[in-house]
Amino acid sequence: MRCRFAPSPTGYLHVGSARTALFNWLFARHHGATFVLRIEDTDASRNQPELVANILDSLRWLGLDWDEGPYFQSERAGRHNEVVDALLDRGQAYIQDGAVRLRVAEQGTVGWDDVIRGRVSFDRSHIEDFVIRRSDGSPLFLLTNVVDDLDMGITHVIRGEDMINNMPKQLLLLEALGVDREVWYAHLPLLVDEQRRKLSKRYGDVSIESYRDRGFVAPAMTNYLATLGWGTADGVEIRPLGEIVQRFELAAVNKSSAFFDLKKLTHFNHEYIRAMPSADFAALAQPFAAAFDLTALPASYLADIQGRTQTLTELAPMIDWLYPGEPPMDGDSWAKAITANPVANAILDGTLAAYADCEWAKDVLHQRLAAVGEAHGLKLGKAQAPVRVAVTGRAVGPPLFDGLEVLGRERTLARLRAARHQHGPRLAKDSRDAI
Ligand code: GLU
Repeated sequence: MRCRFAPSPTGYLHVGSARTALFNWLFARHHGATFVLRIEDTDASRNQPELVANILDSLRWLGLDWDEGPYFQSERAGRHNEVVDALLDRGQAYIQDGAVRLRVAEQGTVGWDDVIRGRVSFDRSHIEDFVIRRSDGSPLFLLTNVVDDLDMGITHVIRGEDMINNMPKQLLLLEALGVDREVWYAHLPLLVDEQRRKLSKRYGDVSIESYRDRGFVAPAMTNYLATLGWGTADGVEIRPLGEIVQRFELAAVNKSSAFFDLKKLTHFNHEYIRAMPSADFAALAQPFAAAFDLTALPASYLADIQGRTQTLTELAPMIDWLYPGEPPMDGDSWAKAITANPVANAILDGTLAAYADCEWAKDVLHQRLAAVGEAHGLKLGKAQAPVRVAVTGRAVGPPLFDGLEVLGRERTLARLRAARHQHGPRLAKDSRDAI
């Protein structure tokens, strides 16, 4: 058995196309079939190597390897013309105004048993004699697609449902070519957005590469794509790819459109990130953490961050205050925890004093700040707020005291002092003594 993924290069791999590629790959791996990759680049504007490179990269990133190809349709123009000429010779096609048209008999129906949709048929009287080669000499996609499938011995055509409307003409072509070999067709359901509209074509919304850049990890993406139109009776959706291969059945694919749900994908991503060994996490996350060396973080801190990371882009705001230089400062956090906080000065001063020479360990830092808060009748959460903002630049983030331990005394005190200077013109007496 042989199946194929046959993208028309657009410069990126659309999530819908990626799902088609995945289902072909799952089918091939499940049945031990051959997975062929063919680039449908006959349209001159698509015949550009850089448009293809991105598609191949995205397929590799998803872990979808192919057994044959990539074949390029544009290299097979001679063969496509040979087929058109043969149809002309046999009188099955004729020339009108320079274009070649296939003769279509007017009676009966043309149809097929779709693996996913069951019997689909069209009335022949609705199909006019259609163009198979334009007057400029270029064969139509309808024809090149069919001829290539035939020549490449494809037994299973698994593709998007947008190709259904081409089916009657393609079947008529096969009939004219005298093909009686059995080919199975499976048209996959459309991907839709929340409003059940066809997904956009905006690169940032739908390209696999943009999901990678937005911090999605490949196994989560692949697993999520597998759930778009397919599932198992037990309802388990997150499972290793090997198990998906084992259970995948083309006949179990749904025919109703599938909602591409970013929230759900994010949930899958979070689960995959949480479950991976922390060395893998550090390696995958490193490109999202600038030059800061993630492996330098204490293991427990790294593990905590890993558990919170839904997408790898969320990592930087959790740790960028540890990077060399000044911390970023979020204006709203500053306004709330410092400017509008009547006890901010007292807490910052108290903390400066309390941290001046204590042991630099998270438990001690915790106790010391709690004591500063108590002295002002504040619970830890309230007491911690101005310190967190002064040191990390944000009101929320991973556990503060673990982070302070990593940042070190010198940098922590410098930031507390800087915040104190920026907020109040004068330091209170107790902190001046302390520094
Ligand atoms: N080249 C077509 C596309 O990218 C797919 C054709 C097919 O799978 O038969 O939409």
